[in-house]
Amino acid sequence: MTPISRRLLVSALALSAALSAALSPAMAQAPAQEGASAAAAAPQTQRAKNVILFVADAAGVSTLNAASLMAYGEPQKLHIQQWPHLGLNETSAVDQFVSDSANGMSSIMTGVKTRNGVISQSPSAVRGQRDGEPTKTLLEYAEERGLRTGVISSQSIADATPAATYAHSNDRGKWGEIFPQAFSPRFGDGVDVLFGAGRQKIGEQLAAAGSSFDALSRAHDRPIYARLADAPASNGRPVVVAERLDVHAATLRALDLLETAPEGYFLMVEWDAHTDDVRKGLQNVVDFDRLIQAVEGRVDLDDTLLLFTADHSFGVQVDGGRRGEALLEGYDAWKAAQGDEDLVRLKHVLVNRTHTAEEVPALAIGAGAERVRGYFPNTHLFDVMMAAWGWDADAASGD
Ligand SMILES: [Zn+2]
Repeated sequence: MTPISRRLLVSALALSAALSAALSPAMAQAPAQEGASAAAAAPQTQRAKNVILFVADAAGVSTLNAASLMAYGEPQKLHIQQWPHLGLNETSAVDQFVSDSANGMSSIMTGVKTRNGVISQSPSAVRGQRDGEPTKTLLEYAEERGLRTGVISSQSIADATPAATYAHSNDRGKWGEIFPQAFSPRFGDGVDVLFGAGRQKIGEQLAAAGSSFDALSRAHDRPIYARLADAPASNGRPVVVAERLDVHAATLRALDLLETAPEGYFLMVEWDAHTDDVRKGLQNVVDFDRLIQAVEGRVDLDDTLLLFTADHSFGVQVDGGRRGEALLEGYDAWKAAQGDEDLVRLKHVLVNRTHTAEEVPALAIGAGAERVRGYFPNTHLFDVMMAAWGWDADAASGD
C-alpha cells in the first residue's frame, strides 16, 4: 500500500466512524419507537392549570430586536427570545390590514376577528353606533369554570387591551360604559384581581356617565383603591386604579393571590411598548422581559402556560449601528427638540410612528406551548390557550 492510499484508507475509515457515530443514536431509536418511547417521541400535550398571557402592546419582531440591541448591545439577549416555541401572529381586522389594540386584543381573547375600535363584539358592530354580538372572552370562560382571574395594565385599565378581557363595547372610547362591566360580569364573579392606571380619566368618564368610583364601590361592595400600597393584604380580590402603576410589583402581588386558586387561574399582563418615544418604548420591553423572567421563576411550567405576544406591530427599525456603540445615538437631541413628526430619523434607528400590518412574535413556554408554531391569525392564540386548558369553545352564536 502506498503512503497516499494508506492516507486515503485512514481518512475513509475516520469518515465512516464519524458517520456511524452521527447516525447511530437515530438508528438505535428507530426500532424502539414501537414500544415505550413512542409516547416520549409524540408531541408533548400537557394540560395547563394556569395560563398567563403577556401582551407587549405594539411590540413587533423589530421592536424586540431593537430592545435587545439597546439594552444588551447584542441581538437575541431578551429572556423571552430564549423560549422554545415561536410563531408569527397575524393581527389584521376584518376590514383593515392594520389593527388597533381593540381588534388585536379582542381577536386573541375571543377567537373572533372584529373591527378596529370594537371591544370583544362580533364584526357586525359599527363603531360608536351599533352593538355586535358579545364574543365570549377567555377570561369569561375561565370565570365560568371557577378559575381565578387577573388583569394588569401599565395603561388605563379601561383602555382597549385590558378592556377586551372583561368588557364588550362597540367603541373603545366609552370608558364610562367599559369600566363598570368589571363589576357586572356575565360569568362567575368577574375579574378577581384588577390592577391598572388611568384613574383620573376613567373618573371623568364615570362622572359623565352619572357614576363614580365611590358609587361603583358601594354598589358592588368592592373598594377601588388609588394605589397598590392601599390595598390591604386581607383583600383577596383587590381592585386598584392608580394614576401610574408599578407593573412589576403589581404582577408579583397578583401571583400571590392567584397561585393558591384550587382550579387554577388566568392572568393577563399588558405593558405598553409603543415606540413613539423610542427609548421609552424599548425600555418598557426590557423591563417587561425581566418581569416575565421573574414570573417564570415562580410558576411550575408543567402546569402553567406562559404566552407572550403583541396586539399589533409598530414601525420601528434598526437600519444602522455597530457593536460597541450606543444604538440610540441622536435620541437626546430629538427628545430635547420635542419633535412631533411622523417619521423620526435617528442615526441608526428609523421610527415610522404608526401601527403596522406585519405579523408579531408569539412566544411560549410551559404546558401547551408546543401549539405556538408557524404563521397563524391572532385568533389562533385563543385556540392555543383553550386547548392548553383542554376546553372547547361554545358553539358559535349564529351571527
Ligand atoms: Zn395596541
